[in-house]
Amino acid sequence: MLIDMFKTLSFARGALFIPRVPLSVRMSSTRVEKKRILADKVAVITGSTQGIGFAIAQRLARDGAHVVVSSRKQHNVDRAVVTLKEEGLSVSGIVCHAGKAEDRDRLVTMVAEQHGGADFVVCAAGVNPLVGSTLGASEQVWDKILDVNVKSPALLLGQLLPHMEKRGECSVILVSSIAGYVPYPKLGPYNISKTALLGLTKTLAVELAPKGIRVNCLVPGIIKTNFGNVVVRETDFIHAMKKVYGMQRIGQPEDCVGIVSFLCSPDSSYITGQNIVVAGFSLKM
Ligand code: NAP
Repeated sequence: MLIDMFKTLSFARGALFIPRVPLSVRMSSTRVEKKRILADKVAVITGSTQGIGFAIAQRLARDGAHVVVSSRKQHNVDRAVVTLKEEGLSVSGIVCHAGKAEDRDRLVTMVAEQHGGADFVVCAAGVNPLVGSTLGASEQVWDKILDVNVKSPALLLGQLLPHMEKRGECSVILVSSIAGYVPYPKLGPYNISKTALLGLTKTLAVELAPKGIRVNCLVPGIIKTNFGNVVVRETDFIHAMKKVYGMQRIGQPEDCVGIVSFLCSPDSSYITGQNIVVAGFSLKM
């Protein structure tokens, strides 16, 4: 028995053995060896010329990926491309209204012809044309919200699928909202569209797992962007949320980027179908 105890103790000590190399030396050698984690990869990001999408584009490019930024307006695409290129990052841009089939076609053709496919797709484009009652929403409002927020990620991913499959291990990140769990007052159809994205994530994760494609979802709380400012101004949500806001601050777009970088990296290779809240508090579900 004593021998067994000794063996167990030796094993435990072995498992915890840390070489006596000064921390600074270990850190500096890590730094020297470190290759940028997303080097040689291609990331396609919708709605990425400002706000959360832009911050994600900047982070993935800083991590070494070539990023394809896009949004509806040419001048926004040009500005985003120039800004990222000034930083020495690898970037190209194209106009793509996520809800328009012909724009998605052009984006997919460009990605296939110029970049040989996509390793990462982040669907950040989202709209909210209505502040008012859910049952008062017109059919046009419903169509616009569902077209851009829910259908467009599914349709774009369907078109990109062959160009992802040939690249091997791929990662998709949808962008939902805390409104998908806790409805914002007066933004009913938007809330519903964001809840649908939580389900789309789960369903696509199952369907695409056999193809080596992981699907996860970023679920931001209130983030300081043009869009976020409207939410704060038009709803009483912030007052209600103050009670549960652990961190007592509104998020910045940069708060959302680390998790996306992680979900693209090999470190998350066994993570799929997760809706990950980045909101400064934990939801009781
Ligand atoms: P933002 O700062 O207003 O930026 C929106 C970006 O999307 C812009 O680049 C815009 O450029 C583009 N865009 C808008 N409509 C588009 C469309 N139909 N097709 C393609 N691009 C489009 O907004 P954000 O706050 O970063 O929001 C980004 C995403 O995060 C949205 O899906 C939103 O629902 C979600 N979200 C935001 C918050 C928040 O508090 N900010 C919280 C939770 C979730 P153009 O004008 O050139 O198209």
